[in-house]
Amino acid sequence: MDDIVCPYCRTRSQHGVRVCIGCQAEVVYGQTQNEKQKYTTWGLIGGTIVTIFFLSIIGIEVSLGLVFAGAMIGGIISAILMLKFDNGKPRFFRRFANN
Ligand SMILES: [Zn+2]
Repeated sequence: MDDIVCPYCRTRSQHGVRVCIGCQAEVVYGQTQNEKQKYTTWGLIGGTIVTIFFLSIIGIEVSLGLVFAGAMIGGIISAILMLKFDNGKPRFFRRFANN
């Protein structure tokens, strides 16, 4: 696996490290935990909205069970999309915003 280069301090680190050995910037491969949570939440919300919208258009009574199922489907779709677009590229995050 290729070495990775920190954009902040230009230090080369081995692929797989969790922090930059030069400046202690956090290294994340692909999406951060935060982003995953955010996308999943939006998937659930999106699924809920689409389900309510769709049910009212086709004239089926909106029930908690159906909305719940729709939210789950939205969450699953967003999880699949996340895996699909997660290229595993290293990204560097500095804890201190002074640079
Ligand atoms: Zn660095």
